[in-house]
Amino acid sequence: MTTEHATVTARSTVYGYPRQGQNRELKKAVEGYWKGRVTADALRATAAGLRRTNWRQLVDAGVDEVPTGDFSYYDHVLDTTVMVGAVPDRHRRAVATDPLDGYFAMARGTQDVAPLEMTKWFDTNYHYLVPELGPDTVFTADSAKQVAELTEAVALGAAARPVLVGPVTYLLLAKPAPGVAADFDPLTLLDRLLPVYAEVLADLRAAGAEWVQLDEPALVQDRTRAELDAAERAYHRLGTLTDRPRLLVASYFGRLGEALAVLAKAPVDGLALDFTEAAAGNLDALAAVGGLPGKRLVAGVVNGRNIWINDLEKSLSTLGTLLGLAGRIDVAPSCSLLHVPLDTAAERDIEPQVLRWLAFARQKTAEIVTLARGLTQGTGAIAAELAANRADLASRAHSPVTRDPAVRARTAAVTEADARRSQPYGERAAAQRAHLGLPLLPTTTIGSFPQTAELRTARADLRAGRIDAAGYEERIKAEIQEVISFQEKTGLDVLVHGEAERNDMVQYFAEQLTGYLATQHGWVQSYGTRYVRPPVLAGDISRPAPMTVGWTTYAQSLTGRPVKGMLTGPVTMLAWSFVRDDQPLGETARQVALALRDEVNDLEAAGTSVIQVDEPALRETLPLRAADHGAYLEWATESFRLTTSGVRPDTQIHTHMCYAEFGDIVQAIDDLDADVISLEAARSHMQVAHELAEHGYPREAGPGVYDIHSPRVPAAAEAAELLRTGLKAIPAGRLWVNPDCGLKTRGWPETRTSLENLVAAARTVRGEL
Ligand code: GLN
Ligand code: ZN
Repeated sequence: MTTEHATVTARSTVYGYPRQGQNRELKKAVEGYWKGRVTADALRATAAGLRRTNWRQLVDAGVDEVPTGDFSYYDHVLDTTVMVGAVPDRHRRAVATDPLDGYFAMARGTQDVAPLEMTKWFDTNYHYLVPELGPDTVFTADSAKQVAELTEAVALGAAARPVLVGPVTYLLLAKPAPGVAADFDPLTLLDRLLPVYAEVLADLRAAGAEWVQLDEPALVQDRTRAELDAAERAYHRLGTLTDRPRLLVASYFGRLGEALAVLAKAPVDGLALDFTEAAAGNLDALAAVGGLPGKRLVAGVVNGRNIWINDLEKSLSTLGTLLGLAGRIDVAPSCSLLHVPLDTAAERDIEPQVLRWLAFARQKTAEIVTLARGLTQGTGAIAAELAANRADLASRAHSPVTRDPAVRARTAAVTEADARRSQPYGERAAAQRAHLGLPLLPTTTIGSFPQTAELRTARADLRAGRIDAAGYEERIKAEIQEVISFQEKTGLDVLVHGEAERNDMVQYFAEQLTGYLATQHGWVQSYGTRYVRPPVLAGDISRPAPMTVGWTTYAQSLTGRPVKGMLTGPVTMLAWSFVRDDQPLGETARQVALALRDEVNDLEAAGTSVIQVDEPALRETLPLRAADHGAYLEWATESFRLTTSGVRPDTQIHTHMCYAEFGDIVQAIDDLDADVISLEAARSHMQVAHELAEHGYPREAGPGVYDIHSPRVPAAAEAAELLRTGLKAIPAGRLWVNPDCGLKTRGWPETRTSLENLVAAARTVRGEL
C-alpha cells in the first residue's frame, strides 16, 4: 500500500455472523423447545439475546453496518421459504396452527409428514432445506421476521442492513415439489416471485432500511444464458421499483464470470464481490467492465470460510486497486461468517503463538475494521496492527509446525510410480479372488456399527479421567468382540471391527496425525442444531504411530474370516477440516496421503487383506465451476492412489462414497483404481448401479440395499429384489451385497434384523444364479 493519506472513506461490514452463541445457547434452547423443556417465549428471548450480543459485538468492534435477518432458528433458506409463502402443502396445516412448530415440522418432519430435503449449501459444509416448488406455487410476502430483526437492531442504535437470499438463487436452489414433473424448472416462477420480493423490500424500507442485501451466490456457478437473462430481468425489475431501499447484490464462494457484466449493468446500487484467492479473476473482470462508477462496492478480502489470519498488506494492496473502480468501498469478509467459529479467545489448548495465526469470526471482524481504517486514514494509522500481522505471518511461515523438513523431502520425492499399483486391475482381481476365496455376491458392511450410549460414556470417562487408557481399551475390545461374533453368527463374509473407538471419521485420525490442531470451542453450524468442530490442518502432516492397526488386528484375531481395515481418505481428511491456505491443496493432500499410505501398508503387514479407504467427500468437494474440475480431480485421485498403491496385488482396496449423482465423476472414480466401491443406493433403487454400468465401470461394486437413514427394517424379500435390480446392471461376479453407510447412527435391534435379512437375501439370490 503506497497511499499514505487517502482521500476516501472506506467502511466495514459483514453479511452474517455465527448464530449459536459462545456456548451454543441457541442449540440448547431449540432442542429444549423440541423436548418441551423450554417454552416458545423463552426460546424467543434466548434468540433475541443472542442477536443483541452479536450486534453489540460488531458495533463495539467498529463495524459500520451490521447485517440483520441472517439469524435463524434452523436455516436461512427455510426462512426465505416462509418469507415468500412457499410452504409445501403437506405442512400448511401445521404452519397455520402454530408458525413456530410448523417451521420446525418443515425442518425435521413429524410422525406423519416428511421434512424438506436437506442438501449442501454450495461447496461449504453447511446444509440448507431445499425449497419445493411447482407450477401451482403461489407466493405471498411475509416480511415479519425480516422487519422485526431490523427493528431490533435499529433500536440498539446500529446502522443495519437486512440480508435476504436473492430471488434468482432461491429459485435455482429449489427443486420440483413431490408430484410435480421432474423436469419442472423453478426458475420459470421468477415473474411470480419478484412482486413478493418487491413487497418485502417496501416493508423493509418502511421499517427504516436504507440498504438491503440480496445474496446471489448461485451466480458464481456455471450458468446458462437463460439463467443469466433471468438474473438480468430480476435486477432490472427490482432496481426500477420506485418504493425501495438501496440494493446491494452480493456474490460469494467464487468468481462471478459472465454474471458480473449482468450485475454491473443492472440498476442496483452496489455489488459485493469475493476477492479472495478462490475467486481469482473477479478483480480483472471488474476492471474489464469499467468498474462500478458511482456505486457501492463491498470488497470481500478477508476469507470468510477459513480460519487463518489475513495478510493485511496484501489486502490493502487489493483494496488500493479497487479504490479507483467504485464510488464507495466497504471492506468485508468474503462471505457470511456463519462458516467459521466465533472467537479464538475461548481456545485454551492451542499454543498462544499458534493461536495468533487463527482468526475466527470475531478476529475477522477486527481485521476488516483495521483494513477500513487503513484505507481511510492511511497505513500510518494501523502501523501497530500491520507490524503485529507481519510478525504473525512470519512466525507461521517459519514455524516447525508448518514446516517439517522430513515431510517435505518425502513429498518431493514422490514419483508417478508411487501412485500406481504394481499390477493392472484385471490381474489383481484374479489374485484377490484366489487369495480371499469369497462366494459370489459377498456380503459386508460399510464399517461402523451402532455407537451405543456405553461407548460414548466410555469416551467421556476417559476424557474425564474416570478410567485410564487400559480401561478404555478394554471397553472398546469388548465391543469389538461383540461386533465380530454377531457378524460371524449372521454369516457376513467380510467383517469389520465396527469403529467403536471413533468419535468421528475425520477427527479420530486428525487427533493422531502430527500437523493437525483440535479446537475446544470451534463450533460451526452443519445444519439445524447440529454443529461440528472441524479440526485444523495447520502444518506438515506425518503419522508418528499406527492409528488403527491395533484395533483391526485384535478384531482379526477373533475370527477366521477376513476383517476389513477402515480408514478415511485424504480428500475427506481435507474437506472436513479447516485446511492450511499457505500451499496448494494438492500438496497438503499428498502429505496426508503419505501418512495414510503408511497406515495402509502397516495394516497389510499385520495380515489385513481387505482395506477400505472412505472418500465420501470426493464428489462434494468438486469445485463449483466445471473449468476447475480437472485440476481438482487430478490431485484428488492421485492422493487416493498414493494412499493405496503400496500394497500387494492380492490385497483388496475398497473405497466408499456416500450418495449418488456422480455421473460427472465416474471417470474419476475409475481413476482411483480401487478394487471395490460401495455406494449409497437403497433410496434410489440401485440407480447408481445403472449409472456405473452406463459408464462402463469395470470394477466390483456394492450399491447399498438397506437404507440406513430410516429406522425401517427392510424385509429379506425387499433386499433380494434390490439385488436382482442391481444384477441387471452389474454381473454377479462383480456385485457386492452391503447396506448403505452409517450403521453408527442406528440402534442394535434394527441393525441386527436388517443385516440378518441382508444375508438371507444374498443367499436367496445366489441360489438363483
Ligand atoms: N466407514 C464409515 C462408516 O461406516 C463411512 C461413513 C461415511 O460414509 N460417511 O460409518
Ligand atoms: Zn457414506
